[in-house]
Amino acid sequence: MDKIANASKTMEVIKKHDFSFQKRYGQNFLIDSHILEKIMDAAKITGDDHVIEIGPGIGSMTQYLCERAGRVTAVEIDRELIPILEETLRGYENVRIINDDILKVDMDSLFTADEKKGCAKVVANLPYYITTPIVMGLLEGHAPVKSITVMVQKEVADRMVTGPGSKDYGALSLAVRYYTQPHIVANVPPNCFIPRPKVGSAVIKLDIHDKPPVRVTDERLMFKLIRAAFNQRRKTLANSIANAPDLDYAKEAVVAALKKMEINENIRGEALALEDFAHLTDLLVL
Ligand code: SAM
Repeated sequence: MDKIANASKTMEVIKKHDFSFQKRYGQNFLIDSHILEKIMDAAKITGDDHVIEIGPGIGSMTQYLCERAGRVTAVEIDRELIPILEETLRGYENVRIINDDILKVDMDSLFTADEKKGCAKVVANLPYYITTPIVMGLLEGHAPVKSITVMVQKEVADRMVTGPGSKDYGALSLAVRYYTQPHIVANVPPNCFIPRPKVGSAVIKLDIHDKPPVRVTDERLMFKLIRAAFNQRRKTLANSIANAPDLDYAKEAVVAALKKMEINENIRGEALALEDFAHLTDLLVL
């Protein structure tokens, strides 16, 4: 089957269907076959895999997935792209296209009972305007997937892999660390897309942990504390938690917990590692 991940074929498809790019949907289509090969290799796609693709666009990556995976489910919000996908993917019988918003779709309906044990994979060139809600939704929603291999803004990939003390460190870094082992696969320049994005991109692979690296009695509470800490990152941790509208802890209670942990009461959340947030949660949950 003719590949569409190159500039001339992509423009041919766009023109034939009189398609107009929708900026609001973060449409930057991949035109580099080497990057697609790298993504397939990193995700280790085999015939046993069911792959969920978020935002197939005109099907550039979907073609590669269909050729390697057992089954592909592609969720695309833009209904103008559906007839195009039906045409570009006509030769493949292992693909299901769903016209929906990935943030609203019933995740459960994407997986079979067997796959709910966690054997599917997510592979995508994500729409950048909603990268964080998509990744957080998959992680916090415990989507039954083994790995998530995605193209994101370079800056977001950096935020995902960084640790305490860096300006990029935040709730996303902690969620990624708690649920996954992250690994940057490749940096990707703007000329690998049509139209060119204004920012650099990177492919990141998140291998989902069988078991989180720290134990915590109340995971939801831990992430509420983390979000509170980074929502007001210039404030002390004790003040941020005491001010958080969805939490009910007096500043004194947080200070007392920090004291037990032998941590200075004026510390900011950005200095705490995942283990510290887990420990603080266990002390506050009592
Ligand atoms: N996979 C294609 C490629 O690599 O060339 C397209 C990637 S493009 C960066 C992002 C795609 O996500 C677009 O096709 C866009 O329409 C789609 N998209 C944007 N928001 C979405 C949403 N909320 N749910 C599902 N798809 C979405």
